[in-house]
Amino acid sequence: MRPFTYERATDARGAIAAVVRGGPGARFISGGTNLLDLMKLEIERPTHLVDISRLPLSAIEELPDGGLRIGAQAANSDTAADLRVRRRYPVLSEALLSGASGQLRNKASMGGNLLQRTRCPYFYDVASVCNKREPGTGCSAIGGINRIHAILGASEHCIATHPSDMAVALAVLDARIELLGNDGAARSVSVHDFHCLPGATPQVESVLRPGEMITAIVLPPPPAGRQRYRKVRDRASYEFALVSVAAIMATERGVIITTARVAFGGVAHKPWRSRDAEQALIGRPATMATYREAAAHALRDAKGCGHNNFKIELAKRTLCRTLAQVAQEA
Ligand SMILES: Cc1cc2nc3c(=O)[nH]c(=O)nc-3n(C[C@H](O)[C@H](O)[C@H](O)COP(=O)(O)OP(=O)(O)OC[C@H]3O[C@@H](n4cnc5c(N)ncnc54)[C@H](O)[C@@H]3O)c2cc1C
Ligand code: SF4
Repeated sequence: MRPFTYERATDARGAIAAVVRGGPGARFISGGTNLLDLMKLEIERPTHLVDISRLPLSAIEELPDGGLRIGAQAANSDTAADLRVRRRYPVLSEALLSGASGQLRNKASMGGNLLQRTRCPYFYDVASVCNKREPGTGCSAIGGINRIHAILGASEHCIATHPSDMAVALAVLDARIELLGNDGAARSVSVHDFHCLPGATPQVESVLRPGEMITAIVLPPPPAGRQRYRKVRDRASYEFALVSVAAIMATERGVIITTARVAFGGVAHKPWRSRDAEQALIGRPATMATYREAAAHALRDAKGCGHNNFKIELAKRTLCRTLAQVAQEA
């Protein structure tokens, strides 16, 4: 690890000012569960760290419209355990609990989870070329071992996936991300617009501006219907998703689907909300034939790179299983 300086911030504006003062080499550090690993590998080389872990941004508050505002510093474990989250947004609680390990979830913050970086092994192997780590050098995963890589929304420059489970649940909940800028102005960005597809600039992963901080995640009132998060991975715990599905579905008298929201994890550079699948579900009978049709729509544009071809069928089956489970529980 390279030498760096460190300071602990006591308020959000002070933290932002400290990062701006630190210049391009300055970074916020929250739980450190991703950033420190990247620093040890010298993939991230911050010259100055501004510790935001003790900022008073960890409250989970009721909103007048029936939604919740979750502070960016709330721990993943505390958010998953919050009774209001468990009762009204079980898809979020399930997604959080499917990620990492108990110890990691205790340290990991909501803001940091959104900004964690891909688990593409070539990104972590500094001996390999990688457009995300060093723009313009190439992509080792294309033509390499690409079993865990993207099948939707990828580009010829990068086929990495976004690793967050939580963000997939936020996508079906239509969450908004609250940001505070270095000019003191706050803004709010929909979770759908927060992460970027790789295009020709895979190093740009979100719309966050220099010095800008995530201060909270806002959940609108929960939509009608049952919620579920299903994660498929190589081992039962402590593993990232090969494919995951967040689903919310309501039916009229258990027969006709009236509400459907579907998002996939592990398949793209960002959480992948499938409006095509949703349109194929709403107004149709809640049967396996309908789910299969919706899955075909959702994966219509999917493209494998060889080792990850299996993910296309896996994603379809995971969606069908999840929807069948939601319908059964309704
Ligand atoms: C072994 C292992 C297994 C894991 N498994 C999973 C899994 O299965 N599913 C899953 O979803 N995650 C998994 N994780 C990832 C873990 O959830 C993330 O590392 C964690 O959520 C990041 O939060 P943090 O607070 O530690 O972020 P940090 O490491 O402190 O920061 C990450 C990045 O976010 C920036 N940042 C942090 N907070 C803010 C903020 N408020 N505003 C602006 N920038 C900010 C930092 O500058 C840094 O660039 C795993 C991690 C490990 C190490
Ligand atoms: S997939 Fe993206 S992160 Fe992985 S090697 Fe290619 S450019 Fe790098």
